[in-house]
Amino acid sequence: MILPKQLPMRALATAAAPNPTMHPTDTTAYGQSWYAATMVAAPPRPQLAVDLDVDVCVIGGGLAGLTAAREVARRGWSVALVEAERIAANASGRNTGFVLPGFAAGPDSLIARVGFAQARDLWGLSQAGLDYVRASIRDDAMSEIEEGAGWLYVSKIDNGDAFMRLVGLLGDLGCEVEGWSTERLRAVLRSECYFHAVHYPQAIHIHPLNYALGLAAAAERDGARIFERTPALSIDPAGVRKRILTPAARLRADHVVLAGNVKIGKLAPQIAATLVPVTTYVITTGALGPRLAEAIGYRGAVSDSELADNHYRIVGGDRLMWSGRATTWARNPRRYVRALTADIKKTYPQLGTAAADCAWSGTLGNTVHRMPQIGDLGPGVWLASGFGGHGLNTTAIAGNLIARAILDGDETWRQFSPFELVWAGGILGRAAAQMFCWFKRGREAVAERRARAREAADKRAARIGRA
Ligand SMILES: Cc1cc2nc3c(=O)[nH]c(=O)nc-3n(C[C@H](O)[C@H](O)[C@H](O)COP(=O)(O)OP(=O)(O)OC[C@H]3O[C@@H](n4cnc5c(N)ncnc54)[C@H](O)[C@@H]3O)c2cc1C
Repeated sequence: MILPKQLPMRALATAAAPNPTMHPTDTTAYGQSWYAATMVAAPPRPQLAVDLDVDVCVIGGGLAGLTAAREVARRGWSVALVEAERIAANASGRNTGFVLPGFAAGPDSLIARVGFAQARDLWGLSQAGLDYVRASIRDDAMSEIEEGAGWLYVSKIDNGDAFMRLVGLLGDLGCEVEGWSTERLRAVLRSECYFHAVHYPQAIHIHPLNYALGLAAAAERDGARIFERTPALSIDPAGVRKRILTPAARLRADHVVLAGNVKIGKLAPQIAATLVPVTTYVITTGALGPRLAEAIGYRGAVSDSELADNHYRIVGGDRLMWSGRATTWARNPRRYVRALTADIKKTYPQLGTAAADCAWSGTLGNTVHRMPQIGDLGPGVWLASGFGGHGLNTTAIAGNLIARAILDGDETWRQFSPFELVWAGGILGRAAAQMFCWFKRGREAVAERRARAREAADKRAARIGRA
């Protein structure tokens, strides 16, 4: 179990001795997160100070860039990765850690776009991404990472038929899933808010920051060189050797991988313009003791909406990690603590008011088609971007496919060619996405209230019938 070494918002009443593998200082780059409080050693990497010639230059030290760098280095090619801040200081080290099959785009829209056969192939790649994460954790003996198995996608309305159709469709795509009835679900998630669920037994949930740091260490063992606080300022992509300028030195490389997510804007504004930045807010509660296991008797991850509200799981034995309340402009995470704790209370009133110990946010990049952008932008220039809220398996796919393309000329990445770079609408696009989010949240809340009122009426009628 992971022991927190610092709990930024509220002191931990029953703090245990700190884990000696944890890094004693400098968690500031990672925000006031549970992950920062429980991270493994993260020795600072140097800034790039001398000119360097390499086979591959990776720009961005999140999971996409780290996976690509690791896989290229594993085969003995020279790689330099430059990260503007610290490794995994952005979305990759701040997310809720659900490693799931599939994509941000649902199976229906995937099939509508590319047809069933290609959707099934893509789904297979998404499963391979999940398997890659699991295998890396195991084969590289990463510590303090894997916290549990399984994912429940839960309905707050009584739509069993729609859920069973989804189970059938996912099964046809080759995904191992089970449909859970309301009774079965409520036996483990003791909430009146929930009806049916789709259970994904093969999903896992992890400590994403420690996983990213483990990947960085593995890449370095394989010979990759990682530079922190080294923003790529410009690229000259002409010619066989691309030139990448950083504040203190230049890189030359045959291949450049752009893996900068929503912060790529200064370097590649046209790429950034294809992403809607969505900031999501996350809290972990203080230790809740045995009442948590009484309310939530499931150790996997749970999502009860297609939107940002709510995704949660148990961490540290008896704490709840809970996320939601997406916005398209980043705000102070403390502003959302009250809303998130109210969501917990509404879902599990038996927990009472669960105060938050840590609160943080992270920003993901959504594409218009909600599929990742994986492919080449020109000879030797590769893009790994747009993973949305489904980035833990898809960054693994992207890193692997791009590494294989560079090393072997493999063209599997072309499976993603139907999902082109589409302008996300600038400021108006962000405003529209925010309004859509509010609208959907409102509509979900109404549907949810109706479903519960109907259930209460049915129960009343049954009681009267019995009397
Ligand atoms: C709160 C939250 C919860 C989430 N939950 C989940 C989840 O449970 N499951 C899931 O699958 N996905 C989840 N996601 C999505 C997932 O975290 C992301 O899709 C994924 O981490 C993106 O990885 P990345 O490598 O593309 O980007 P990032 O992790 O953002 O990394 C990109 C890096 O590039 C660097 N960079 C940018 N420009 C430059 C430059 N010019 N020079 C050098 N460096 C540069 C940035 O500093 C940054 O560190 C969540 C996201 C958030 C924010």
